[in-house]
Amino acid sequence: MKIHEYQAKSLLAKHGMAIPRGEMAFNPEDIALAAEKLGGQTWVVKAQIHAGGRGKAGGVKVCKTKDALEKEGRNILGMTLVSPQTGPQGRVVKKVLVEEGLDIKKELYFSMLVDRSNKSLVALASTEGGMEIEEVAANHPDKIIREEADPVLGFRPFQGARLAYRLGLDKIDPKLVRAMSGLLLSAYRVFTEEDASMIEINPLVITKNNQLLALDAKITLDDNALFRHPDNVAFRDLDEEETLEVEAADAGLNYIRLEGNIGCMVNGAGLAMATMDMIQAHGGKPANFLDVGGTADQKRVETAFRIITKDPNVKCILINIFGGIVRCDLVAEGVVAAFKNLHMGIPVVVRLEGTNADKALTIIQQAGLSGKLIQAQGLKEAAEKSVHAASGQ
Ligand code: GDP
Ligand code: MN
Repeated sequence: MKIHEYQAKSLLAKHGMAIPRGEMAFNPEDIALAAEKLGGQTWVVKAQIHAGGRGKAGGVKVCKTKDALEKEGRNILGMTLVSPQTGPQGRVVKKVLVEEGLDIKKELYFSMLVDRSNKSLVALASTEGGMEIEEVAANHPDKIIREEADPVLGFRPFQGARLAYRLGLDKIDPKLVRAMSGLLLSAYRVFTEEDASMIEINPLVITKNNQLLALDAKITLDDNALFRHPDNVAFRDLDEEETLEVEAADAGLNYIRLEGNIGCMVNGAGLAMATMDMIQAHGGKPANFLDVGGTADQKRVETAFRIITKDPNVKCILINIFGGIVRCDLVAEGVVAAFKNLHMGIPVVVRLEGTNADKALTIIQQAGLSGKLIQAQGLKEAAEKSVHAASGQ
């Protein structure tokens, strides 16, 4: 689960990391109040959306007067922010974070994630903060410094100190070595105690008076561990999630929306991936990933149909079910009933394989829906027929 910058910063602060002072604003009136509370001469107003690249897109503004802050804040609240990470449709900004403005001496990069090949947690740091780390990784891989956590002991204080020396922080101020050491341990506590799967602080800044602070923060929490953190569940922001995905999750379906026009209904994640590959290999584009799970009964098929067809791009649906434990004839009955119940207006290609597949075939043939409910044998034929049906020819 992704969370907002202000929420991520609250977790960092909870585990001892220094962050700028800030106040949230949910409507224009809150902005002046926030400046009042914070005091000072400079403020930064930051759009809170689940995507980075806000700075370049106009979602982060440094303001030197209260008037400027109110003007920029009003402008950002409600704007549709389009950054390389939001997709072309952008995101509507519903809240902003107002922070004290800091005098920045240096911007660094810091992150912590799981290195699967190494079976360990890894901390990455770079002197090239503020920019996209992918760019640094591609052009100056030597500028990314790594520290790996011991699986039993975790990160140890000397590793933070070593990061600081390798980043040259001791030359700016020797006390930054200890600060960096503390920061690494704080990040490790956030990672393990909050069950995070990724922490990124870009930029991590050194201010003019040599304070080390997390100026930006992005944290992803592990969905599978959320039950252990009732406080963190409250971080969920449904405004930031795809509505169809939320609806599908509530129905217990594994659904991810994509950009194509062929809806997919498949049992099993592996088969769903193979189905999407097959569609692609035949020149089509899947509109979604959908794993209906082990019980492809009429109710689930209906729910899945309903969710898939809410996406206006869908021109055809491909049902690919392998009957291992499920019986294909029952699935076929469910498909026919759901098809009739929902008055499906688009063609549906059905490929059923496994237990009672022959009975299923008879059920589909006798349903009297020829032209609309298209039966296919084998995945290849199913892909071909759905690509053809989606093209509308
Ligand atoms: P992102 O573009 O979504 O990653 O948003 P960031 O939080 O990283 O902000 C983008 C940039 O705004 C930072 O890299 C800083 O250069 C600048 N910025 C953010 N807060 C401050 C601040 O308090 N003072 C100054 N001078 N610059 C800031
Ligand atoms: Mn950033």
